[in-house]
Amino acid sequence: MVRNLLSRYRVKGGSHDQHFLIDEDVLDLIAETANLSESDHVLEIGGGIGNLTERLLKKAGKVTVIEYDPYLVDVLNDRFGDRDDFEVILGDAVKVDLPPFNKVVANLPYSISSPITFRLLKHGFDLAVLMYQYEFAKRMVSSSGSKEYGRLSVAIQHYADVDIIVKIPPSSFSPQPEVWSAVIRLEPHESPYLVKDEKFFLKLVEAAFSQRRKKLKNAISRSLPSEEKQFILTHLPESVMNKRAEELSPEDFASLANYILELKKKAVDN
Ligand code: SAM
Repeated sequence: MVRNLLSRYRVKGGSHDQHFLIDEDVLDLIAETANLSESDHVLEIGGGIGNLTERLLKKAGKVTVIEYDPYLVDVLNDRFGDRDDFEVILGDAVKVDLPPFNKVVANLPYSISSPITFRLLKHGFDLAVLMYQYEFAKRMVSSSGSKEYGRLSVAIQHYADVDIIVKIPPSSFSPQPEVWSAVIRLEPHESPYLVKDEKFFLKLVEAAFSQRRKKLKNAISRSLPSEEKQFILTHLPESVMNKRAEELSPEDFASLANYILELKKKAVDN
């Protein structure tokens, strides 16, 4: 049992986002959702006392853990260090070189949710099953028109299919966090729409949501460099510029970004 492990190793948690998952059913569900087989090399971010690691090791061919806390690295080595299919790297998952892997499974440290998710998406993987703070998870899966829909929703959904598997109460953890959590399944996809310049697309989305209650023309005019802003304001139809960012789907943003780039190209050619 996870509570026995916590007392055996005298681990209390609390610092470094250490909220250990003690609900055995949720631990089983996370491992099952990852659909592991001998051919999988799993990356686990933040192994803690190995409560999830032991489940991953039962099914995967190899498990590599990145853990920030040296004491917990010792605990993990004490539990699994003699196995060939296990490796632990001491370090910050946002900064260390990533090992080879094809799936990621983790009860994430919530303070690095955003940087680690985008780092992993840029790196590439087959499937991820990750625990996030519930509010963050809702923003990841939201569609245009909902109040949680924003820059995070557009950026994540551009790279991957994303679903909430289950919502988890604070009582499933020790020590209990103040917030609810959710397990998310992420499967990278080829974007279903064309984006001609990814950097510009993401910049436009960021500018549009920088003031989400404002019409696009106001939000954009406050957050883009003046040359770009001027160009967009003079060339785009009022019908588009009078919309709010939350009314545009990821595909709408892609079309808008492509359209602006096309107009700019024509302006340069003339
Ligand atoms: N896997 C365990 C579980 O499910 O109970 C522990 C999860 S706990 C929410 C987060 C773990 O991530 C802790 O073990 C913590 O020490 C570790 N951690 C915190 N920040 C980290 C970082 N930047 N890089 C890697 N691990 C980190």
